[in-house]
This record gives sequence, C-alpha cells and structure tokens, in this order.
Amino acid sequence: KQLKKYFPVGKSLFGGNKGNVQAVDGVDLTIRRGETFGLVGESGSGKSTIGRTLLRLGEKSGGEVHFDGVDIYSLSKEELRRLRPRMQMVFQDPYSSLNPRIRVGDAIAEALLEHRLADKKESRELVHEVLELCGLGAHHADRFPHEFSGGQRQRIGIARAIVLNPDFIVADEPVSALDVSIQAQIINLLNDLQEQRRLTYLFISHDLSVVEHLCSTVGVLYLGSLVEVAGRDELFAHPLHPYTRALLSAVPIADPTVRREKMILQGDLPSPLNPPQGCKFHTRCPLAQEACRQERPVLRDVGSGHLVACHLV
Ligand code: SF4
Ligand code: MG
Repeated sequence: KQLKKYFPVGKSLFGGNKGNVQAVDGVDLTIRRGETFGLVGESGSGKSTIGRTLLRLGEKSGGEVHFDGVDIYSLSKEELRRLRPRMQMVFQDPYSSLNPRIRVGDAIAEALLEHRLADKKESRELVHEVLELCGLGAHHADRFPHEFSGGQRQRIGIARAIVLNPDFIVADEPVSALDVSIQAQIINLLNDLQEQRRLTYLFISHDLSVVEHLCSTVGVLYLGSLVEVAGRDELFAHPLHPYTRALLSAVPIADPTVRREKMILQGDLPSPLNPPQGCKFHTRCPLAQEACRQERPVLRDVGSGHLVACHLV
C-alpha cells in the first residue's frame, strides 16, 4: 500500500544538488496466493527495489507491506527471522550469490542449518530432493559453482530458494542472463514448481514476451509508479496506457495475420532523481497534452480490475 523507497543523494565533487532518487513512488499492488504477478519495466524503473522492499531486504521510505495478513515492517528482528523462510528471492545472476569455494550442496543447505529448519542428515536429504526437483540430479551436490552452466546455476539458485519450502518467491529477472533456449527450460521449471509447491511469484522482467508465458497478472512500471495493471490476457489483448502500448508494439509476433499498432517511444527514461511533473511519462508520450504536464494521473479501475493511470483513458 503506497509503498515508497527513496534513496537520498548528496552533492558531489562535480556539482549536483541534494535530492532523493524516487525509486519506488507510492505503489499499490496486490499479489494473490498462487498467482504469478509479472512486474515489467525498463531498467531503472524500480522493479528490483520493489521486489527487495516487499521482502523487507532493507528499509522502506513509506507505505505498508502485508504478507499473509502480517504487516512485515512492524515485526521485530526475531519475528522477521522466523518469517524469512516463507519469502525467498531468486536473482538474475546466481553465480554472484554463490561462493566459488563452497560446494553447491552446502550452499543450498546453508539457510536450512542457519534457520535450524533441519539437522545435518535431514539437510542432506532435502538438498538431494530439491536438486532432483530442479532437474540437476542429487549427485551434483559435491560440485563447485564453476562446474555448472548458466542455466544450471539458475537451477541451483532456485533450489536454494525452494529448499526452505517458501510460500512466496520474488524472482528478479531470473532468465534475463540466459540464452533463449535455456530461458524456456527455466520458465517451465518455475511453472512446475509452482504447481507442486503451491508457490506465489512476483516475477520481475524487462521482457514482455517472457512475462506473457508465465504470469497471470501483469503490472507495468514507469519511473517508480505503476501505470497499468491487468490480467495477462486482458493486458496483451487490450493494452490501454500509451507506455504499455509502446512496449507491446516492440514485441515481435509470430503470426503474420496479427497486426499490432506501431508506437515509438521518444527519448530515454528520465532520471528518477527529478522525475517529470504531471504525468511522469509525458516527456516521451506521443499522445501527451497540456494537462499531462500539469496533473499526475492516478491509477484507477476502468472496468473489471483493469487499472490505468492516464488522462486519456
Ligand atoms: Fe500520455 Fe498524458 Fe496519458 Fe501521460 S496522461 S500517458 S502523457 S496521454
Ligand atoms: Mg533490476
């Protein structure tokens, strides 16, 4: 609810003023149990910051986060530690989060032992189980991270999250660093795990075509604000916000009989340090009008849960 995360910046040797990078600027969103909520936006739009803030990995600047009815920012350290296994994160680059000198089995078991969720023997069994479940084979447990390919490492990253038996996983660009052929395998794995383990995902991506395969609901983020939220089929069939329409017009379609409008974005993403007044998208919007420069549109329901923030819709 109205989640905000600002990063203060100071003056530098090279000038510039003090200010706040408004990475997340009043975001309202609901992720329902068992669904995959896709969060899409360009790099720098605040996607990862939302993901981290939802898990209370760091502090927020405003708003509230409720997980299964619990206001997680009101929890004590100890209460948060006990909740932690239920909310996990999968990163874009699992290699950087794996210690090169620690065997992957031990890396996966680490959190189990740390949270005292299992003793050594149980941990070994659970690690073997999740390695199998993630398509790697239990015999890989004594190997080192460098012995694996990018796709296999992402399987290890997922195994590491899954072993704690979480309810909710934030997957932050989990396939963006992988070859397209491998991307499909990892997406299928995430889908299978969701069914078997009744998981809920926040799936973060800059790639709408990836989101289309996996997500039941999609939120489009621009400079720290949601500009459109809708069910997947609705969003892809009837995108309403000019930014979503521009993003979609850049996604290739395999079927030559389907035509999509061409909508070209002007310029680059503005700095979140001084976001534009009025509609933050007005500096790049092909449909911008005078009112757009003055007044910020709010996200509102335009029918059956399709939310849009645009004066023209
Ligand atoms: Fe474009 Fe105006 Fe709509 Fe913003 S409010 S998206 S500038 S038309
Ligand atoms: Mg990111």
